[in-house]
Amino acid sequence: LRSVVVVGGGLAGLSTCSALRASGFAEDVVLLAAEPHLPYDRPPLSKEVLTGASTAADTQLQPEDWYAANAVDVRLGTRAVALRPAERAVETADGSTLRADAVVLATGGTARPLPVPGGGLAHLLRTRDDADRLRAELVPGARLLVVGGGLIGAEVASSAVSLGCEVTLADPDPLPLAGPAGALVAAYLHRQHADAGVRLVEAGVTALERRGGAVHARLGANPVAEEVEADVVLAGIGIVPDEALAVSAGLDVAGGVLVGPDLRTSIPEVLAVGDVARPRGYDGPLARREHWDAAVRTGEGAAATLLGAEPPAPAAPWFWTDRYGVHVEVAGTVPQDGVPVLRGDPESGSFAVFFLEDGRLAAAVSVGRGPEARASRRLVDAAAAVGPAQLSDEAVDLRRLARAVRM
Ligand code: FAD
Repeated sequence: LRSVVVVGGGLAGLSTCSALRASGFAEDVVLLAAEPHLPYDRPPLSKEVLTGASTAADTQLQPEDWYAANAVDVRLGTRAVALRPAERAVETADGSTLRADAVVLATGGTARPLPVPGGGLAHLLRTRDDADRLRAELVPGARLLVVGGGLIGAEVASSAVSLGCEVTLADPDPLPLAGPAGALVAAYLHRQHADAGVRLVEAGVTALERRGGAVHARLGANPVAEEVEADVVLAGIGIVPDEALAVSAGLDVAGGVLVGPDLRTSIPEVLAVGDVARPRGYDGPLARREHWDAAVRTGEGAAATLLGAEPPAPAAPWFWTDRYGVHVEVAGTVPQDGVPVLRGDPESGSFAVFFLEDGRLAAAVSVGRGPEARASRRLVDAAAAVGPAQLSDEAVDLRRLARAVRM
């Protein structure tokens, strides 16, 4: 292997480059980044950057001199527009052609636009520039309508409340996050909004229209439609994986670029990592993991594959979210119809919910739990055989149990 081109200057692309260098790869590494910024971290964009606790510039993942020191030829503002695997060629928008023995697609995704008339009036939040634009409008007293109560929508609602905005959150789902976090925690998290003074509307948006200085949003279907007047609208309704290059190369694509456990796509010299990658499963594709941890791990996995090493052992899905001052971590996959095991008292704002499958720990959802959340994650990663009595007993030290499990 003499040369690798990584397409996409986000977390997964950077993770691939770092892992290649950390493993001793000394040949050419080029990182193509469509955005004008060096790779940066997205989670703070809906949290600290929006509240003003930090700036968009603070999110940069590595200092500028890291790229020279690690011989990573990063090309900002350079979008790859075509991939021709047979010729091992990547074409960029400025008309150059790069040759590489292997290509890693780390193109992530773009925020899904609101698919209703006037939907373009809604802000989206995916990039640093999106965060700067939204931040400028979230002045005290501004009326914000958040469309979608998932991770991004909920975090923006929380940040906007702390800025003194008047927030309405609309989602037709009465319990957003019930799938990934389980109904008990989802109900707790949804109630947080109301407790913070957010007006909750159980309906989808059907149209947006600018009238005078305000945006009028139509919510729900006739005859129970209502109209909300807002100064700012934010849509947080998921992402669209950026698979255009994979399609141009004829790779297998199905709501993400399909990859095996070694991150290879249907053409072995092309790998895919991060939000754009979708693992093949035995019975069809598995869900994409659109989380920070998966971006880092798949980048490391792709580097291992390229260098002929075993990819690291697969870990359970893991993500966090922060809202209204509460840190939440979800490790593992909550089984559908799983029976929750509660630890601690939700009223106290610090509790956890566990799910067992065949006597083994399948998922742990920790709310305001501090270092114990890390122990729970370790137990989930090990699919530890822990009983409900141990999990629910606050006298049992989960950190000690986690130290004892063999990984
Ligand atoms: P991306 O971050 O999307 O990066 C892909 C990059 O590739 C982009 O910069 C794009 O411009 C570039 N690109 C695309 N096509 C091309 C091309 N053809 N040529 C060149 N470049 C290209 N996860 C958590 O676990 N916890 C959180 O609390 C959390 N909070 C989040 C908050 C926000 C506001 C957002 C947006 C995401 C959050 N996430 C969180 C998710 C996490 O940030 C993503 O999973 C992660 O950024 C995915 O990284 P990626 O590198 O795969 O994709």
